[in-house]
Amino acid sequence: MAEYDYDLFVIGAGSGGVRASRLAAMSGAKVAVAEEYRVGGTCVIRGCVPKKFMVYASEFAHHFKTAESYGWSKVESSFDWKTFIEAKDVEIARLSGIYVRNLHNAGVELLHGRATIKGPHTIEITGNDARTVTAKKILIAVGGRPSVPEEIPGIEHVITSDDAFQLDSLPKRIVIIGGGYIAVEFAGIFAGLGSEVTLVYRGANILRGFDDDVREHLAGELEKRGIRVILGCSPDKIEKTPTGLVAHLGNGILCEADQILYATGRKPHVDGLGLETVGVELNENGAVKVDDHSRTTAENIWAVGDVTDRINLTPVAIREGAAFAQTEFYNNPTSFDHDNVASAVFSQPPIGSVGLSEAEGRRKFGKVDIYRTVFRPMKYAFAGAEERCLMKLVVEAESQKVVGVHIVGPDAPEMIQLAAIAVKMGATKAQWDSACAVHPTAAEELVTMREKYVPQELGGA
Ligand code: NDP
Repeated sequence: MAEYDYDLFVIGAGSGGVRASRLAAMSGAKVAVAEEYRVGGTCVIRGCVPKKFMVYASEFAHHFKTAESYGWSKVESSFDWKTFIEAKDVEIARLSGIYVRNLHNAGVELLHGRATIKGPHTIEITGNDARTVTAKKILIAVGGRPSVPEEIPGIEHVITSDDAFQLDSLPKRIVIIGGGYIAVEFAGIFAGLGSEVTLVYRGANILRGFDDDVREHLAGELEKRGIRVILGCSPDKIEKTPTGLVAHLGNGILCEADQILYATGRKPHVDGLGLETVGVELNENGAVKVDDHSRTTAENIWAVGDVTDRINLTPVAIREGAAFAQTEFYNNPTSFDHDNVASAVFSQPPIGSVGLSEAEGRRKFGKVDIYRTVFRPMKYAFAGAEERCLMKLVVEAESQKVVGVHIVGPDAPEMIQLAAIAVKMGATKAQWDSACAVHPTAAEELVTMREKYVPQELGGA
């Protein structure tokens, strides 16, 4: 008789957990995965995927407006929130079903319920499939949860991104707190759908960590789309009034809204997992501490994805899960390289970014060459719109390698995926330029920037 019920027990059927459990099971291992909510995790159920549908839905207003400049008659159309949410839920259920099927086809046993680690090899599941099981190896892939500042009076009245996918109606007015990915994405979504949007961010400019030109450019573009951006403050208090909610900002401004959405970060979902009972240590941010092979401080327990707070992106969780399975079940020691991971922000216009910002480049290499262009994409220039696209290359001066690419504008997420290949390969600026332009596209600017850009503070025009 086997020593344990399973070779691998995975807690959490999100992006990382599903990939790891399928790959492990396909090696012939006996694998189970526990999920307390719906299979697919944040990405599929209340993150990337439904968010992208909302972005698509909201972009139509912009397309309709542009269409008139191209000779189409005025588009008279209205948006029905309920119709959209129902259709979105049907599609999410279909996708979640595919995940379930894929687990089944790989031979992974799916247990519905909440798992708690009770001992180095023992897991208790409560809920639909309640039982206690043993496993040789355990993988923690429970992800993160929205985090709000609990100390703010009235915080119980606000919503987070989890709720934004399920609102009963489209808010006429919404205040969004935060300046990160989720805040700017939802600002664009709600503005496109017709809400009056105010974005409140405590810092000097949104999207801390991104290239400064990108931050400034996007803030300007958001305002062009009618989003009110208030910087340098955050709410002291949230008040519920007979007509809605009021955010009392530190600078004395009162922002009234039907909904207040807090997008103030996410934190690892480790509460009640039983980690302390088996010696799985957390780092200073409350994330599970892991080494390059996703091994925790407990010998037979690993962790992947947002619960480890390395780079909190779906494809990263998938690669970490795959690397774990390769190492532990295919005798092929693999670790995921977290350098030069590209990301996209589905703001409107969207951002694509890979590698170092200009400031990071200067810190790391001392001298960098910057190539930068700002232009009106031809589709919108034709329509007389003021929307502008930004493209920027950060080039290490000595080696001439392109170490950062930053794009704000239509199709930036699609472009950055390809640019990431060249950056990952360490291609030089001359190698980029040796690729002939594809015309007429916006992307051709990436291989036709010849003049170095010198920022004003460094003596440029
Ligand atoms: P982020 O960490 O990106 O942004 C959080 C924002 O909230 C920051 O602007 C932060 O300010 C601000 N903030 C934090 N605490 C407070 C507070 N107490 N009061 C006021 N403001 C506060 O988190 P998100 O929630 O936007 O997203 C979580 C993660 O999910 C992202 O980091 C990303 O990894 C992932 N994600 C990726 C997406 C994509 O790939 N397109 C889309 C959505 C999410 P400050 O900068 O000053 O700290």
